[in-house]
Amino acid sequence: MSGMGLTITPLGEEPSAQEEAPLYDLVIIGGGPSGLTAAIYAARAALKTLVLLGSAPGGQMSNTEMIENFPGFPEGISGMELAQRMQTQAERFGAEVVMDTVTAVDFSTRPFTVSTYSKQYQAKMVIVATGAVPRMLGVPGESEFFGRGVSTCATCDGFFYRGKKVVVVGGGDSALDEGLVLTKFADEVIFVHRRNELRATKIYQERAFANPKVRFVWDSVVEEVLGDETVTGVRVRNVKTGETSVVEADGVFVYVGMEPATDLFKGQLEVNEWGFIVADERQHTSVPGVFASGDVQDYLYRQVVVAAGTGAIAAMEAEKFLGEYPDLERREAESA
Ligand code: NAP
Repeated sequence: MSGMGLTITPLGEEPSAQEEAPLYDLVIIGGGPSGLTAAIYAARAALKTLVLLGSAPGGQMSNTEMIENFPGFPEGISGMELAQRMQTQAERFGAEVVMDTVTAVDFSTRPFTVSTYSKQYQAKMVIVATGAVPRMLGVPGESEFFGRGVSTCATCDGFFYRGKKVVVVGGGDSALDEGLVLTKFADEVIFVHRRNELRATKIYQERAFANPKVRFVWDSVVEEVLGDETVTGVRVRNVKTGETSVVEADGVFVYVGMEPATDLFKGQLEVNEWGFIVADERQHTSVPGVFASGDVQDYLYRQVVVAAGTGAIAAMEAEKFLGEYPDLERREAESA
């Protein structure tokens, strides 16, 4: 892949700021669909744009074998290929795409500083598109059967469970929301929840309790995902009685929370009570000139097409912001 001039700094050595801290109009942190779409829009708008991909392009998307709901690919496309195409498209318009991981950011003075393992960059604006990962149970069988019966996305995989039986783990909004999506395909949706009451919003609870395809296994945790070639069920333990039993199922959907990748921004950007970055409807964060897009600020949709859409908005807002930048920088310097 082009544009990956990665220099490794030995651990313990700081990158030399004096030597090299090139200034970009826009640094995009994250190389998933949101960051790469932002790069396409920003580079086409002639912003000097750098994308710091992290350790691989594509983010969560690159772990998806076949994306069937991204418009324009009626036969589906592998997540890795879609990521590579997005990267090529961004590079074609002049974005620099570098495979390096950001270790620190400083949004307290302009231009902002973005440090990676090997280098420091200055940025008039930053788009944070670092994504989020679904929290997993960490039980035997879960990673082994991931993609072969274990999933974290009903919208992506529900289709494969037409006429089948699935287990949904969790009792929050995501579990209920996505579990209800699954009732459109599966014959039976069995929620396994560790307590005997749900955390999810009332409306979801009412819908789930009223749905004849839904059954609950209360006060129970999944101890193991069982299977041979594919999933055959889960072994659950009742936390009150200690009894274990097997719930047969063809698929297991895990919804026990999301972990947005926001450690880098702690104390610098406002986050909500679940740790997602707070961005307004135009993707502006609490710091003017820092935008957030994709799953790092979206706990509801978590779709490639939505991530791409918010990335495009962030880049268009960045383009507008650049016009105001000289004034803002001068005013802030005067009041410092
Ligand atoms: P969440 O609200 O934190 O719920 C996670 C669920 O998983 C809880 O029921 C929790 O049980 C359970 N859980 C956590 N760790 C577990 C473990 N190790 N083993 C078994 N169960 C475990 O997360 P979420 O459902 O992903 O939602 C995240 C945010 O997105 C929430 O704010 C939610 O409201 C929002 N959201 C909203 C909508 C909507 O409004 N349409 C849809 C989806 C998500 P306990 O209840 O016992 O803690």
